[in-house]
Amino acid sequence: MTETARTVHQTARPHGFPTPGDFAFVESALPEPAPGTALVENLYWSVDPYHREMMDGEFALNAPLEGRALGRVVESRDPALREGELVFHRQGWRTHSVVTPEEARALPRFDGVPLSAHLSILGGTGLTAYVGLTRVAELREGQDVFVSAAAGAVGTATGRLARLMGAGRLVGSAGTAAKAAYLTEHVGYDAAFDYHTGPTAELLAKAAPDGIDLYIDNVGGEPLEAAISSLREFGRIVRIGTIAQYNSTGAPYTLRNLPDIVEKSLRMEGFHVRNHRDAQEELYEFVVPHLQSGRVGLDETVVEGFDGIVDAFLGMLRGENRGKIIVRAAGAPSDALGV
Ligand code: NAP
Repeated sequence: MTETARTVHQTARPHGFPTPGDFAFVESALPEPAPGTALVENLYWSVDPYHREMMDGEFALNAPLEGRALGRVVESRDPALREGELVFHRQGWRTHSVVTPEEARALPRFDGVPLSAHLSILGGTGLTAYVGLTRVAELREGQDVFVSAAAGAVGTATGRLARLMGAGRLVGSAGTAAKAAYLTEHVGYDAAFDYHTGPTAELLAKAAPDGIDLYIDNVGGEPLEAAISSLREFGRIVRIGTIAQYNSTGAPYTLRNLPDIVEKSLRMEGFHVRNHRDAQEELYEFVVPHLQSGRVGLDETVVEGFDGIVDAFLGMLRGENRGKIIVRAAGAPSDALGV
């Protein structure tokens, strides 16, 4: 094992879109696990839009960043963390992490399911989509759904799960024609459009001429306004995120059709996936058999090598990902058996 650990620090607060200069790779000696902890060599990292929100204040400057990661326990000073075990934890953006048993969760092994799935459809991404559709939206069979940022991590998972749950017409918006084609050809969407090609309200009205019952909102702003116009009476909006605003330096988008929420008796509700971790087992039970049978495929963009983690993050904010963006350590195994 190497004697050096590498960590990513945030070194400046971005104004608008972050740049590589807002980050630094810092080398240090390999950390020593204290009693009650274990050293984990990280294999896969997740970079997420919420990291951009944290860059405005919650991430301390010149200190290791945090994020979801999968790794292998390489040295343990606690019997609850066995050497060789694969674990999930939240001390990512570094090659090595020291964790307590409370901070790490052993990964379940599902035959034939790649490890990366624990950061995509079986991880926080899939859980967000699952909770949004079930607990918040209470999706019923045959209901018509519109999803924004549909070709991203939560958007592709939402499409896959909504299809399994018997949704009616599934419509997605995404940033390029190629992403829109991917949604209809691979993910199970019935229609998809590139939101750069016209006003979203017009594109949505064309893709869902009879209206929608449910809007899964990853973006806020213009697609939210468009969805309010397309929703039928008693429709629902699930607020998942506001990525249109995270890098914006201008005034937030003003919704012009708020009265429609009253006129059509719409319900809008947001949630945080961190408050629904109790749904994790339910998600495994629902999705794993479909992954194993091949009915559900993985939507992932995998970046090779820890060196690429900052570029992967910035690329995701620019829309360069299709599905969940994941960074993989050079030589990392692709499945839990180590192959
Ligand atoms: P993602 O969709 O994989 O990646 C972000 C995508 O957003 C990009 O690929 C880009 O795709 C799109 N985007 C970027 N800027 C945009 C803009 N100005 N307008 C419209 N689209 C834009 O990321 P994710 O992890 O699935 O997250 C999606 C949303 O869910 C985010 O808002 C995130 O904060 C939220 N989230 C919330 C929770 C929760 O617990 N509530 C959990 C996870 C994620 P295009 O090419 O299509 O523009």
